[in-house]
Amino acid sequence: MENKGISHEEVLQSLRQFKKLDMTHKSGKILGSMCTCPHPVGVEAYKMFLESNLGDPGLFKGTQKMEDEVITMLGELLGKRDVSGHIITGGTEANIMAMRAARNSAQHKRHIDEPEIIVPKSAHFSFKKAADMLCLNLHEAELDDDYRMKMDSVRELITENTVAVVGVAGTTELGKIDPIAELSELCLERDIYLHVDAAFGGFSIPFLKEAGHDFPEFDFGLEGVCSITIDPHKMGLAPIPTGGILFREKKYLEAMSVKTPYLTKDRQATIVGTRTGASTAATWALMKYMGREGYTHVAERCMEVTSILAQGIEESDFKLVTQPQLNVVAFTSDEMSPDEISSKLKDKGWAVSIASYPRAVRIIVMPHVKEEHVETFLKDLNELE
Ligand code: PLP
Repeated sequence: MENKGISHEEVLQSLRQFKKLDMTHKSGKILGSMCTCPHPVGVEAYKMFLESNLGDPGLFKGTQKMEDEVITMLGELLGKRDVSGHIITGGTEANIMAMRAARNSAQHKRHIDEPEIIVPKSAHFSFKKAADMLCLNLHEAELDDDYRMKMDSVRELITENTVAVVGVAGTTELGKIDPIAELSELCLERDIYLHVDAAFGGFSIPFLKEAGHDFPEFDFGLEGVCSITIDPHKMGLAPIPTGGILFREKKYLEAMSVKTPYLTKDRQATIVGTRTGASTAATWALMKYMGREGYTHVAERCMEVTSILAQGIEESDFKLVTQPQLNVVAFTSDEMSPDEISSKLKDKGWAVSIASYPRAVRIIVMPHVKEEHVETFLKDLNELE
């Protein structure tokens, strides 16, 4: 850092130069991200609450009231109005909190030397971080032919040290939904904590269901579900960073809360201390502004564009890995590896991503991806040599 500062105008000029290097969602070229253009109503609300710190909620009573209302609205969306939880940075933090709650709750019941968690092979890598930080042994359950968690494999992996089972509603790589109803039954029977990672699917499955699409149960309507991750900064259109973690009962938050000696609230369960209230304001504003109708429209549009893309792939020389259940399309080719395809598409300005299991090109049809982008993309894809 220099001794003397530069002018405001010089700062802005430099910022514009940095910004030029960034891709934008608006361009329609980002096809491999679960984030999207933040909705202007959310951005406005976010800007209004930049100084609000939910780590010290006694000072920001209005923001705290909004967080309580947002958690109730999210709970209602996911089958139980009366839930506890927080608005945090994203799916990773939510999953770490859920694993911490599960481990601590199990440890309160009985001593467990080496706690274990069971996640599907398709689980997001945040569970590896959680396992590392919380000293949990992570076991991966096998997937069935349609890339959903295999129940037999889960049953085989359960031991007396199992503190949590995780099911995913909208897997990161393929958008698949695990058999949560069966997991719920099994976890109730074995008295094991069940966490559902709906970071991606949480803001679309309930709306698509209401619109008549066929989806399996995945939320608090199932007795065995103890917590759910739902990310407003993915299909919820909120600015980054905005994640959500919901618990069926307050006791799970209490199982990981620590005393906060100098703040306006006695105890804190979140991982971060100072926690922006802006994310809460953005989520509150968006849920009120969009309403169920608004989000249903967004989710349905994404599914329509997904169908156009999937059909285009099926009519080409490329092969769909699986029929999309949500707005994720993965494909391979007999002639080129996914990395080759991705690199050739990059030369044409497209940013796709690569799924690891199975290895394939992966496209997330987020709200910024419109029909015209998909049409141009398919044309470019079919011209690859
Ligand atoms: N869970 C799922 C299913 C995800 O798809 C992702 C990210 O894509 C995460 C968790 C992690 O979310 P974040 O990147 O917001 O921490």
